[in-house]
Amino acid sequence: MKPPQNKYRLCLPRLLLVGLAAAFLLVSEVRAWEVVNYQDRDYVTLASLADFYGFRHEVNDKHLWLRGGNFVIKGVANSRDLFINQIKFVLSYPILPKGRDHLVSRLDLCKLIDPVIRPHFIKDASPFTTVVVDPGHGGEDPGSKGVYGHEKEYTLRLARQLRVRLEGEGFKVVMTRDEDKYLSLPERMGIANRIENSIFISLHFNYGSKGISGIETFALSPDATRSPKERSRDPEQETLQGNQLDAENIALATAVHVSVIKKLRAVDRGIKRASWAVLKWSEKPAILFEGGFITDKEESRKIADVRHRERLASAITDAIVNFRDALTLR
Ligand SMILES: [Zn+2]
Repeated sequence: MKPPQNKYRLCLPRLLLVGLAAAFLLVSEVRAWEVVNYQDRDYVTLASLADFYGFRHEVNDKHLWLRGGNFVIKGVANSRDLFINQIKFVLSYPILPKGRDHLVSRLDLCKLIDPVIRPHFIKDASPFTTVVVDPGHGGEDPGSKGVYGHEKEYTLRLARQLRVRLEGEGFKVVMTRDEDKYLSLPERMGIANRIENSIFISLHFNYGSKGISGIETFALSPDATRSPKERSRDPEQETLQGNQLDAENIALATAVHVSVIKKLRAVDRGIKRASWAVLKWSEKPAILFEGGFITDKEESRKIADVRHRERLASAITDAIVNFRDALTLR
């Protein structure tokens, strides 16, 4: 049972290969991704990607669609924005036009698209029983100043509401702080990383200029642990090193973001990548959730409303339950 070299080198860390080989076998014999190297980076043609997943593939000028199963994926040439079932994701690299086809970076395919479409294929994901909830800021660090109060107050209130909901679903909950006190980032992550079988959710509220509102969810940049210099020296290793939790991070970010956007009909500012300390230093699957702009008059009014925060807590809890179920669906 020797899998085709080409496909298996595409994205999965080597540790996963053996475990996944059997599951992939039927598909792999007839389908493979076509890899194109461009400017020292590996890309996959959209046509072969569509073929692999059994999706229909349509291109109309700069716009492209993949449709199949429960998914509609929409992208635009030369843009980093990708919509999966109308939820906005920001890719690491733009989609490139290539003749009548398009190229998607192998990194984005392996670290974003595939784990979102097939979270149950995240093979070595460890089951979790505890959720570490991190209310952003605190004490002498008030966070953003909103219309009705400071960020640190609302992150703590939401965290406490979320704790009740999660405990109701049978999770253990550890809070990095349960009072108005300052914690350095190493202190926060020291608390979080000590907890076995856990995931980590950092709660924040956003600030911005007038008229900006909506939800953003961040997962660690998939190549954050390597400098651009290192990456250019050894582009082939791009997806084989770095954060081993990339797939879980993006799947968790997607679960939470989608749940909140759909249930609260919130403005979708996208699932994004960042290299912030809480994401980079986490040894567990981690996301940073920005639950709205406290600088926006309308949104800050909602954030100050306990019922709105209950809905946020409920949507996040549903997502965590779904994420747990997705990982255990084998
Ligand atoms: Zn913040």
